[in-house]
Amino acid sequence: MSIKISETLTFECETGNYHTFRPISRVARSYQKIEDSFSLVVGTKTCGYFSQNALGVTILAEPRYAMAESEEGDISAQLNDYQELKKLCLRIKKDRNPSVIIRIGTRTTEIIKMDSEGMAPKLEIEIGIPIVVARANGPDYASTQGEDTVLAAMAHRCPEEKISTGKRNKTIQDQAIQDLFPFLPLEKKGETPKPIRFRNNPPLVLSGSLPSTVASQPSSESKRQSIQVPGWLPAQRYSDLPSLGDGVYVCGVNPFPSRTATTSMRRRKCKLIGAPFPIGPDGTRAWIEKIRSVFGIEARGLEEREQQMWETLKDYLDLVRGKSVFFMGDNLLEVSLARSLIRCGMIVYEIGIPYLDKRYQAAESALSRDTCRDMCIPMPRIVEKPDNYNQIQRMRELQPDLAITGMAHANPLEARGINTKWSVEFTFAQIHGFTNARDVPELVTRPLRRNNSLGDLGWTGLVKKEEGMKFN
Ligand code: SF4
Repeated sequence: MSIKISETLTFECETGNYHTFRPISRVARSYQKIEDSFSLVVGTKTCGYFSQNALGVTILAEPRYAMAESEEGDISAQLNDYQELKKLCLRIKKDRNPSVIIRIGTRTTEIIKMDSEGMAPKLEIEIGIPIVVARANGPDYASTQGEDTVLAAMAHRCPEEKISTGKRNKTIQDQAIQDLFPFLPLEKKGETPKPIRFRNNPPLVLSGSLPSTVASQPSSESKRQSIQVPGWLPAQRYSDLPSLGDGVYVCGVNPFPSRTATTSMRRRKCKLIGAPFPIGPDGTRAWIEKIRSVFGIEARGLEEREQQMWETLKDYLDLVRGKSVFFMGDNLLEVSLARSLIRCGMIVYEIGIPYLDKRYQAAESALSRDTCRDMCIPMPRIVEKPDNYNQIQRMRELQPDLAITGMAHANPLEARGINTKWSVEFTFAQIHGFTNARDVPELVTRPLRRNNSLGDLGWTGLVKKEEGMKFN
């Protein structure tokens, strides 16, 4: 069944028979971002095997996460869930003394109907550490949505915003965020903050975790009109969670925290700014413009700034212009990435995506549609819950220049003459803001550049022939 939202942008839905990372893979992002947290995944050995493999070398760095592996006695209720969990939490408290324990549920806890939310308040009082319960089970969610469930649970714990308290002096203490979005005013550690003239805008909380190691970029934008940002969800420390409440605006930096946005709106009475996401120079400009327009602040110099960024990408653009790309879909970043690649001059055949919240991604979808029109290229189909088997058949027909796919299909496709890029890299790479505008084209052109290099070395047998090897 397909629904047309415009004369050409088409949404379809398939069987959901696709490869993706399990949502507990995002546990890594949660514990790395919230420095004083400890994540406890309650599941089975299957979940444990997955985490050990998927999190790669980080598991050797004494991560702040652990598996509580259920045994026969837990499944048949011969052991007492509450007592078992309490034992583990006390051990975590003794060994690591975190400020919060994020207790992550899996498929097993769902199937045996473990009452995690019911146990948490009592346990919290007994052990004296807040316990945040998130359900990140594979049957309900896909990869990055795991982070969304944690953030949505955190949104319940944010303190209440007191709108009438007058002047706010709280700013986010994260240098990386300031480097990434230089229009945000932030205090620098060890420095007396320069007085910044704030517009009288309502408080704004940005949601979605970003890597903290972002290269600094001196920019004159920080001196321009600024928007007051009292918080970021997640904050770097549990104790620094932003205030939410009536009158607070929330805006996402990633396309996947849609539950967090819904929780902020419905349960915490915040207002959502529906903007495209700051991925690629075009998305970053549209994102900043939308926030400023909501607050009635004129956006100045953004067009030139975007243009400058495109100039710096020229070498990549020459490589990708006119090439076709097929997104198999597994991490929810697909619509934003596709829109950015279309702006780079690529043709997108299909955007597979695990789940599309049409309301949360409305501005992004509209920007994608406008981008296709501006670039005079056909609108791609957006396929929700794709069927990998059917997608492979379609790729056979279309013979795209590049497939963005998971590791399960990457090597088999390469062997059949289709260049591939692992989709998971986009979830860990720094792709947000003007500063990191080069990273998406850098990742996308890597297989294309590799082919050029192999050709130069005379290894032509390893390079996809122009006429195309037969896909069978
Ligand atoms: S709950 Fe299921 S999908 Fe999730 S990690 Fe465990 S085994 Fe995998």
